[in-house]
Amino acid sequence: MIRTELSTLGEFGLIERINQQFTPTLPQTIKGIGDDAAVIDTGTDEYLLVSTDMLVEGVHFDLSYAPLKHLGYKAVAVNVSDIAAMNGTPRQITVSVGLSNRFSVEAIDELYAGIQAACEAYKVDLVGGDTSASRSGLVISVTAIGVVQKDKIAYRSGAKPNDIICVTGDLGASYMGLQLLEREKREFLENPDMQPQLEEKAYLVGRQLKPEARTDIVYELQDAGVVPTSMIDISDGLASEILHLCNQSGMGAQVFEENIPIADETFLTADEFKVSPLTIALNGGEDYELLFTIQQGDYEKIKNSPHISFVGFMTNDPQAVELVTKAGGRFPIQAQGWQHLNK
Ligand code: ADP
Ligand code: MG
Repeated sequence: MIRTELSTLGEFGLIERINQQFTPTLPQTIKGIGDDAAVIDTGTDEYLLVSTDMLVEGVHFDLSYAPLKHLGYKAVAVNVSDIAAMNGTPRQITVSVGLSNRFSVEAIDELYAGIQAACEAYKVDLVGGDTSASRSGLVISVTAIGVVQKDKIAYRSGAKPNDIICVTGDLGASYMGLQLLEREKREFLENPDMQPQLEEKAYLVGRQLKPEARTDIVYELQDAGVVPTSMIDISDGLASEILHLCNQSGMGAQVFEENIPIADETFLTADEFKVSPLTIALNGGEDYELLFTIQQGDYEKIKNSPHISFVGFMTNDPQAVELVTKAGGRFPIQAQGWQHLNK
């Protein structure tokens, strides 16, 4: 018997292995594994979108600093983000939880208060789920269902040469927020009388604990009359996501360091931690911003948006996915992302 360690495949390798074993057979299955959401044709002028994401205690969150209410909100937001990444609108969610009797009824109420707040914020209905005992901490799995007009759908694979690469919001803040929370936790464990000093860091910590899905951008693009040629949400860091767009579109890219949006708070805190803000923006993860490409002709329609940065353009050389530094140097963009299976 051969035993192959999961770490030899990594997360993406494992998904690819599963993907190879399951070829969709139904004509209604327009897109299976490989994009932010599955795409299903129900015979109307809209596609149905389905996406699932799971949050696991000790892997995705630490209850010593993540309030249950925020966690519930985040579990919904990250799924809504995948619907937005198809240029779609979320409609319903199901929520499954694995619980141990470590949790009180009040604690579960808190979790669901956060889920409810997210349902209101994103205008989705909770329509089902599952409840199980768990022996290995809290597990929250959310499935989001959404819709998109067929002619407005944005896959990861649609980018063309010279398309402009766009990023919403700013990057790296969530990762810096996580570093702050981890530092506070270490200091608290050493000195339990210490009070957390996170008031000045509210933006960064908020980005980590309670991220928002950019459903607003889907509406903004619609109002501007722009359909992205490709789109993905930034859950694993800009580097990893740009490589997904390039790989699936068969394109290369030039991304300009000076155009990558990074908040002042992120710069300051990165300095404090002696890490490079650029590296954090490229590889930090959990930003839940949108990365998309547009045709050159659409630039005028959104160039003044305060929510969108134009960070580069696509090229027809799939071998070259490059970062152009402020000094003019060119470096291949490499994915680090989250490699949970290697930890
Ligand atoms: P995202 O970061 O957008 O949530 P993932 O990287 O988690 O996307 O997943 C990429 C693709 O692989 C998606 O289409 C997802 O549905 C699919 N996928 C992930 N895990 C599995 C699995 N265990 N079985 C089948 N498909 C999976
Ligand atoms: Mg995604």
